[in-house]
Amino acid sequence: MEYQDFKKLYCEDPIIFHLGMELFNGMGRDALLASTDQVLCAAVTKKLIALMAEDRIANAVNAAKDFASLSAVERLAYAGRCGIKLEDDPVDEPGICPLCGETLEYEDAYSGKLLRNWRCKGCGAKGKEAYRKVFDSHYSVLDSSGHMVR
Ligand SMILES: [Zn+2]
Repeated sequence: MEYQDFKKLYCEDPIIFHLGMELFNGMGRDALLASTDQVLCAAVTKKLIALMAEDRIANAVNAAKDFASLSAVERLAYAGRCGIKLEDDPVDEPGICPLCGETLEYEDAYSGKLLRNWRCKGCGAKGKEAYRKVFDSHYSVLDSSGHMVR
């Protein structure tokens, strides 16, 4: 299996990915490779039957309702903290013309602004580049008596 196949399975069919990984982890490499397909299919069938139990289905419905109670920002932040990527990377790249792929020229030097005006050296297109703020940390925190806490 190549990395691309691994990633494709993880992204496009995560239930099968996790079932396969659980089967692999449960049996170990040697036992898995020594087993017949019939034995392996029976093991997966057992896992799927357990997954389809009524309380598991209700758990899935409750999880979906819990996800619905989160804002989009919370959902993405929680997923990110678990190492799960729910959003695709931006299609555009900074500094590259979205029309022709040429390098962009900016009207002004980058100064932390969230919008920058650009002009393409290649095709003459004009546009704006948008950035998102990313939280870093709190600093210069003073307690109620004015002492530096951090
Ligand atoms: Zn261009």
